[in-house]
Amino acid sequence: MGNFATVSVKNNKYKVKGDFHHLTPNTPIRDMDDNGRLLGVTNPRDMTYIHSYGGEAVFFESLSKGKLMATRCDNPKCESKGTIYQPFRIFCMDCLAKNKVIDMTEIAKNTAKIHTFMVCERSGAFNVLDKPIKFINIEFKGVDTILMSYLAVGEPEMGMRVVPIFKTVDPTYTILDLAWVPEGTKKNKLPLGFSF
Ligand SMILES: [Zn+2]
Repeated sequence: MGNFATVSVKNNKYKVKGDFHHLTPNTPIRDMDDNGRLLGVTNPRDMTYIHSYGGEAVFFESLSKGKLMATRCDNPKCESKGTIYQPFRIFCMDCLAKNKVIDMTEIAKNTAKIHTFMVCERSGAFNVLDKPIKFINIEFKGVDTILMSYLAVGEPEMGMRVVPIFKTVDPTYTILDLAWVPEGTKKNKLPLGFSF
């Protein structure tokens, strides 16, 4: 393995450092029922993908500080003026104006409820959540959309009051920095690095 790949921005330009792709030796694919006849090769490749957050960056930065940000359309000419979006939407889908970023941490702490849920025993490649994963759809008072996330402690039930927890220690700056627990969960039951 080469150098760990990192990116920073200076003078409005991306500066990349380290190795962003690795080739590792390939191996032959052989037919074991036919004297090991060659059928093909494996092509192992590792790459580091650069994912720019753009206008959503404030959402992920805020999670690392224990805050849940949403957006709201404040355009006076919009039929849907005042609509609050969680998940975070940069633009209003009705009038296409840029939404205002608002802090909805208190709304989440005081009104979040499980709308519905699903428990998954298996997951896709690169998933790092503990299985079974308790995916929950969360509704909030005054918020017009439903957020998909997961319950980190306990068993989900429809209508259950939940509160957000945030990975403020060693944050990943991804959606994995946000999870939910039943209201009243004790601090010492939270997953490592998470706090209320
Ligand atoms: Zn609008």
